[in-house]
Amino acid sequence: MEPDCVFCKIASGALSAPKFHEDEWCVAFPDIEPKAPTHVLIVPKEHRASTAEIDAASEPLVGHLVAVAAALARERGLNHGYRLVLNTGADAGQTVPHLHLHLLGGRPLGDMG
Ligand code: AMP
Ligand code: ZN
Repeated sequence: MEPDCVFCKIASGALSAPKFHEDEWCVAFPDIEPKAPTHVLIVPKEHRASTAEIDAASEPLVGHLVAVAAALARERGLNHGYRLVLNTGADAGQTVPHLHLHLLGGRPLGDMG
């Protein structure tokens, strides 16, 4: 837990957010500025700044985040598709330095920028 990290605070419950999912590894909650009808963030409980800090030992965790996102997409009936996004660093526009997977769907999402 990083003391000044907003996603650590949400993941630990220190800051409240409506949670769509929680298990021993991660939590899922709505993005505060949604870019699509479904915009959910899937966030590991353990702090890592980004995928730049992912190593072989983290592979099960990353797979788990994708599986949770896919289950949430199924629950929401995103049968026309959806997008999973992991922004890493400044060039990708990462604004919160705690690894998070975006689940976006519910409208045509257009080309990747
Ligand atoms: P990224 O650009 O990949 O770092 O995305 C960070 C996302 O976190 C943005 O889409 C923000 O809208 C979202 N966000 C920032 N603070 C909060 C918060 N307190 N609760 C929910 N979402 C947040
Ligand atoms: Zn954190």
